[in-house]
Amino acid sequence: MEEVPLERPAPDTPAPADAPARGPSRADPARADAAAEPAGVPPGPVSRRLTPLRMIWREAIKYPGQVAAALLALVTTSTATIAIPARFKGIVDQAFGPHAQPGVIDQAFHVLLLIVVVLGFATAIRFYYVSWLGERVVADIRARVQSNLLRLPPAFFESNSPKEISSRMTSDTAIIEQVVGTTVSIALRNTITALGGLIYLFFLAPRLTAGLVIGIPVVIFPIAWFGSRLRKVSRSSQDRVADIGAMTAEVLGAIRIVQAFGQEGRERARFAAAVERTFDTARRRIMIRAVMTAVVIFLVMGGITALMWQGAMGVANGSLTGGTIAAFVLTGGIVAGSCGALTEVYGDLLRGAGAAGRLNELLLEQPDIAPPARPIALPSPPRGALAFQNVAFRYPSRPEISALTDFSLTVEPGETVAIVGPSGAGKSTLFLLAQRFYDPQGGVIRIDGVPLPQADPAEIRARMALVPQEPVLFAANARDNLRYGAWDASDEAIWAAARAANAEDFLRALPEGLDTFLGEGGARLSGGQRQRMAIARAVLRDAPILLLDEATSALDAESERLVQDALDHLMQGRTTLVIAHRLATVRAADRIVVMDGGRIVEQGTHASLIAADGLYARLARMQFDGA
Ligand code: ATP
Repeated sequence: MEEVPLERPAPDTPAPADAPARGPSRADPARADAAAEPAGVPPGPVSRRLTPLRMIWREAIKYPGQVAAALLALVTTSTATIAIPARFKGIVDQAFGPHAQPGVIDQAFHVLLLIVVVLGFATAIRFYYVSWLGERVVADIRARVQSNLLRLPPAFFESNSPKEISSRMTSDTAIIEQVVGTTVSIALRNTITALGGLIYLFFLAPRLTAGLVIGIPVVIFPIAWFGSRLRKVSRSSQDRVADIGAMTAEVLGAIRIVQAFGQEGRERARFAAAVERTFDTARRRIMIRAVMTAVVIFLVMGGITALMWQGAMGVANGSLTGGTIAAFVLTGGIVAGSCGALTEVYGDLLRGAGAAGRLNELLLEQPDIAPPARPIALPSPPRGALAFQNVAFRYPSRPEISALTDFSLTVEPGETVAIVGPSGAGKSTLFLLAQRFYDPQGGVIRIDGVPLPQADPAEIRARMALVPQEPVLFAANARDNLRYGAWDASDEAIWAAARAANAEDFLRALPEGLDTFLGEGGARLSGGQRQRMAIARAVLRDAPILLLDEATSALDAESERLVQDALDHLMQGRTTLVIAHRLATVRAADRIVVMDGGRIVEQGTHASLIAADGLYARLARMQFDGA
């Protein structure tokens, strides 16, 4: 007998030559259809309970036709699997006996062939529908999770990193796909096969079956115990191999430093020690596997021998026929294989439950900021008035620091207010609150006289256009990037916006004009060009209130002038709240609000603030001196 391969190599670690990749079905000797099922569930954190799998069932049962077809095919394949040894009994008893007729032999094999054909078809149908359900459920879950994520406020993404969420979207859904498309099918099929097989065995030879029932756990539990130890050691073996990889990359990446500091000897010793640790872990793995192989051979072969012995005695004293023994051995093998497969898939089901639980969290997450049941419509036409009244705000993730304290500011329609102040003063926080990404703990913010919590957040945001400090472009063409937020804009409108934003020249020079793909994050444009794209996008949005977070990022004088011109254009006739870094903007503003520590410390015009010789005058002096 071959070694029993229960090891599971990590997905990106090459399998050792003696450890073929484990498919969930490999312990099942009766699996003529093994090829129909792919490898096991990818590794992932395990749940303690199977209950989260209910969520997957709720998703799957939305397709009752496919579920019914899969279940029917599942029962058919299990029945056909048991029918094969049952048929063998007839063949051995009737066709191999001394008085066998050719007609009887033909008939017996015709029936067997028919069963094989049914098994083949039913397996194909089962594979199709079970895999279909796996893919369908995953597609639905992905779409629903993404749709829910889009509703969640920025606070959620502060405590849940987008990187981790995106890994849940790919790896957890891959686990679920495997669980629905493979593991559940294996679990159900093997349960049905094992139960059906046992019933048939009792019917066939009750005394022998009693021996088998006692024997199966004696064989299965040691195998399962060794299997779980082997998996643990395999994982640490893979970790050691990963250490070696990391160490090689680190040392070779810093080879000049290693050589310059004469550390070759130390690195050689460090690496040799790591290699030895890897060898030691591998040796433990090999040892467990060797012992396990001996135990398995002894238990399985010993058990079969004992049963055959009993069976042979039965045949000798006439209580059993040769056909019964043949059918018993075959069915016994199938039942044992099914039980073995069940012990293996349990871990996979727990892993699937873990994945389902994590995705369910994302699905159930409710936004704190939701539209009110009966939102008040904002006045139309919009006026563009924005007012903060006694606003107090602390970020939920940092409740100990007050980001805004008793903050009051009224911006009249059409007014340009520059917000200045040192880093951390609370300037960006104002923008976030104005767009209702957070609700303040105290005070009220109004747009055109309507308190934000009483209006629909979508309507509030539709009245604002944001030009962020770091322009955000998508991996798309120039046209789609510009009309993001105004999808029905015509090409004429897009060009007009580009002109207003001083973006026309470089857009015209692009190889395919507006159809030019801009690369990941707009990487094919310069910093200044990206900023003008963001301004053109805000022009197209044509909102009454502008939120500008001016960029000070290293723009050359020419780009800066172009961006400034574009902003001047954009601000005309709109209410503008601008976080100002440039003196040009500050001077042109109707009013300058100076913030520090979440409060307004001064406000007025450039001249009056310079005359007051306060924080603004100090900041301005620093800028002039810097310039
Ligand atoms: P800068 O000019 O550096 O952008 P700012 O004036 O815009 O600064 P804000 O970003 O509004 O300042 O920050 C105000 C305060 O709130 C700071 O103390 C900051 O550390 C804190 N803060 C900002 N964003 C968060 C957040 N997402 N979670 C917790 N605290 C935050």
